[in-house]
Amino acid sequence: MKSFAAFFAAACLVASGFTQTTDAQKPEWCRNLPRPIYSKLERIKIADPWFEVYRIRPGVFAIYEPHQYEEVISYLVTGTRRALLFDTGMGISNIRDVVQTLTPLPVSVVNSHTHNDHVGDNWRFTDVYGMATDFTRANALGSTEDALAELAPSQLCGDLPPGFNPREYATRPFHISHWLHDGDKIELGGRTLQIIATPGHTPDAIALLDEKNGLLFTGDTFYPGPIFLYRPETDLDAYVASVKKLAALAPRLRLLLPAHNVPVAEPGYLPRVVAAIEQVRSGKIKPTPRDGKQEYSFSGFSFLLNK
Ligand SMILES: [Zn+2]
Repeated sequence: MKSFAAFFAAACLVASGFTQTTDAQKPEWCRNLPRPIYSKLERIKIADPWFEVYRIRPGVFAIYEPHQYEEVISYLVTGTRRALLFDTGMGISNIRDVVQTLTPLPVSVVNSHTHNDHVGDNWRFTDVYGMATDFTRANALGSTEDALAELAPSQLCGDLPPGFNPREYATRPFHISHWLHDGDKIELGGRTLQIIATPGHTPDAIALLDEKNGLLFTGDTFYPGPIFLYRPETDLDAYVASVKKLAALAPRLRLLLPAHNVPVAEPGYLPRVVAAIEQVRSGKIKPTPRDGKQEYSFSGFSFLLNK
């Protein structure tokens, strides 16, 4: 989806002025929504139709963007003194307004990694934490191509927000106010979140651990769906080491909160992901072609690789 084909399709869309697709033209992924699990979650009503908000635990909100192919999920986690926003989504609508309706506390932003679909609204916040990596520094400068490709007709499901101008859409530059390292802890008041470096999908990928409550926010290192391991910045050896690190935490966890598709998953997935990626690397699993990549499928998730 970040292919040049998608980019040119999006460029044409922008050049021609945006028109909505009819039902029959809906992309396949869109026709399969909503995902069944959402009917079992506690939905919080908000004014902006671009987002759906779910209360997953007390003080833990999933902010879901179901109208775009990434189905990205950002999380607002609150303590007694401050709140942390784990990712800021696509930057297509205004996540800051949503966050302000959910909490009066000061909000700091931490990103699961700095791919465009997770940092889109970083620019709207003054307190942004970043991993001390060159990849993070480069992405904080912003970009246009990755953002534009997200608007191809095949990537959209339903209406873009009123007032959204595709011609002006880009990942805007953002300022990083604090640098993070593996093992750092962020105190929210009555809740501590620990940074767990999980390089692999990107060099700056992290998971966020709320040990007291048994919660692990996994970012793009794990979600139930096709896990992207084909970009040039992906390091497969590092990915294997990172999923082993997370799987070692599994016995102490009650819930995984992934960054795409669904906001709840069983911790039991983690050891299965380790076994699966090791099988892939040993050459024992046959892939099937998908979108110009190779897909290695397992029960509940898959890996997308170049070869
Ligand atoms: Zn990513």
